[in-house]
Amino acid sequence: MASSFDATRVSVVDHPLVQHKLSLLRDKQTGCKQFRELVRELARLETYEATRDLPLEPVRIETPIAPMEAAHLAGRTPAVIPILRAGLGMLEGVLDLIPDALVGHLGMERDEVTHEPREYYAKLPRDIAERTCLVVDPMLATGGSAEAALSYLRAQGARDIRFLSIVAAPEGLSRVLEGDADVRVFACAIDECLNENAYIVPGLGDAGDRIFGTL
Ligand code: URA
Repeated sequence: MASSFDATRVSVVDHPLVQHKLSLLRDKQTGCKQFRELVRELARLETYEATRDLPLEPVRIETPIAPMEAAHLAGRTPAVIPILRAGLGMLEGVLDLIPDALVGHLGMERDEVTHEPREYYAKLPRDIAERTCLVVDPMLATGGSAEAALSYLRAQGARDIRFLSIVAAPEGLSRVLEGDADVRVFACAIDECLNENAYIVPGLGDAGDRIFGTL
């Protein structure tokens, strides 16, 4: 069945540098070291897009030449929340742009009884309700763990959530957007579909294995 989703909450980062790096990332000849570097670079570029509407506040500073009214980011510093394990590959890329971001970790697994995804590990900054939360996971495939992660974060009070993936499947996008009325999703590409093993087609294979060299 074809998937449809609310495109107004989806941003595809289609900058030429992103698309070039994504092609290198997809290539099965790309080894672990380069794969890891590319995931980090793509996360950095996506963070730039995903934070373009962060509010600013005026601040008085003095340049060596003259006083001026400049701008600082307003409010609390954002939180970045990698979904274990593949999301860890994107963490440093986000921190490259927001070095003082706080970091939460969220591990999701399939419950053996209900077969539904649930968190097996969660350690979050205390006041996520007051922060922009950048949730990172390179592959948005079925959307099951992403949807569960978002609902966990909502239950913890998170309000401004942006989900950064590198490759998304239409099925995953539909599930996440239907499951959460406010989340905004960023991706470098929306691929064709999932295969029978829930891998994204054409995708890039198992992102976690390629980041950590566990193929
Ligand atoms: N997770 C991956 O790492 N790759 C996919 O294609 C789907 C889920």
